[in-house]
Amino acid sequence: MTINEVQQEILRLKKEKDICILAHSYQAREILEIADFTGDSYALSKMAAKTENKTVIMCGVRFMAETVKILSPEKKVILSNGTAGCPMAEQFTKDEILALKEKYPGYAVVAYINTTAELKTVCDVCVTSSSAVQIVGSMENKNIIFIPDCNLGSFVADKLPEKNIVLLQGGCPVHAAVKPEEAQQAKKLHPCAELLVHPECVPAVSKQADYIGSTSGIMDYAQSSDKKEFIIGTENSIAEHLQYACPDKKFYPLSKSLVCLDMKATTLIDVLDCCKGEGGEEIVLDEETVKKARGCIDAMIALGG
Ligand code: SF4
Repeated sequence: MTINEVQQEILRLKKEKDICILAHSYQAREILEIADFTGDSYALSKMAAKTENKTVIMCGVRFMAETVKILSPEKKVILSNGTAGCPMAEQFTKDEILALKEKYPGYAVVAYINTTAELKTVCDVCVTSSSAVQIVGSMENKNIIFIPDCNLGSFVADKLPEKNIVLLQGGCPVHAAVKPEEAQQAKKLHPCAELLVHPECVPAVSKQADYIGSTSGIMDYAQSSDKKEFIIGTENSIAEHLQYACPDKKFYPLSKSLVCLDMKATTLIDVLDCCKGEGGEEIVLDEETVKKARGCIDAMIALGG
């Protein structure tokens, strides 16, 4: 079958079986094309919760499918490729966080949405990369433990000096691998380009940026800007998607290392198999986990997230 024939078959099966397909922005173009919704993980899980479809296929990584399940426990949620995890989401165990809470009594635990459902059950509030500063800034607590990403945590701490933020040595291995010299070189090579960077990059990279924001933030910024050239400091698929969306502009990847192999694990054939009921992995979470993890997300919503 050609790519186009596979896509047509997915669209046919999706309609016949009442399936909603979500694709994170880091997915391949041929997957984005057959998705009902594309975007950041939390936005996708909110969209899925609003649909009538009984089955949702999440083309992304495990914590994203878990977040869909937490917000839509009555739906059948399938992770498109069961091997697709997120190293950052799994960097700390529930017991390690419980031990930290004992060490820092009275501190509120803020969890980046890129954490497992199990970890969310022992945290107080979730944040996304776009809402982190606003949510932490709105919290009554001065003392915060921020998990797991120390780079996003540093970004928040810089913006909110009035808060006392404890950081852990966690983070996204893909974004954190970008070296400050690579940012210097890219700026030298493309002197007219603006550098747009995800806050999961190390501070020495982010500090050189013209704009720091979530993946959606970077996409919106580049598309609405009057500028014509951009160095993209997030997963390299975004430079490619933006190039399709804005043919009159130029997009340069910040680093060759900005490739998430877990995000690349899903193929169009995986999605076809999921639609046939033959592939992927159904996400199963017990009631208690859903309830407690949902509390962490509801706390974010209550603070305006
Ligand atoms: S890019 Fe980083 S945070 Fe995102 S899924 Fe890959 S490893 Fe996880």
